[in-house]
Amino acid sequence: MGVLVLLWLLCGGIAAAIGKRKGEGIAGFFWGLLFGPFGIAIVLFSSGNKRPCPFCHERIFNQATVCPHCKKDTPAIPNSNKFTAGQIIVIIIIALIGSYFMVNYQKSLQEKTAIKASLPAPAKALK
Ligand SMILES: [Zn+2]
Repeated sequence: MGVLVLLWLLCGGIAAAIGKRKGEGIAGFFWGLLFGPFGIAIVLFSSGNKRPCPFCHERIFNQATVCPHCKKDTPAIPNSNKFTAGQIIVIIIIALIGSYFMVNYQKSLQEKTAIKASLPAPAKALK
């Protein structure tokens, strides 16, 4: 179980690193922490808090009214919700299925070791 927790923390770190480039590092960290590998996918597909400048195509914040790169006026885009309700539901379902399989896999591993341990010594020798 400890390994799994470490893996999830690692996913949080990776998602945060990806999110940071899109101006949402903290959000990315929590996505990764909550959904592990799925969180990384979410952050990867999220358009983030930035958009390309219409003039120089550098990535600038959605709320920027002047591009910091070419100094041209750009229309500010209100910080809209990045995910629709439908998308969030799909993400949660995927995360639930993923964690279900992960728990089952762990259980089957534990059962296998339990069966091995419960076998009497002669049965082991016959194998
Ligand atoms: Zn620009």
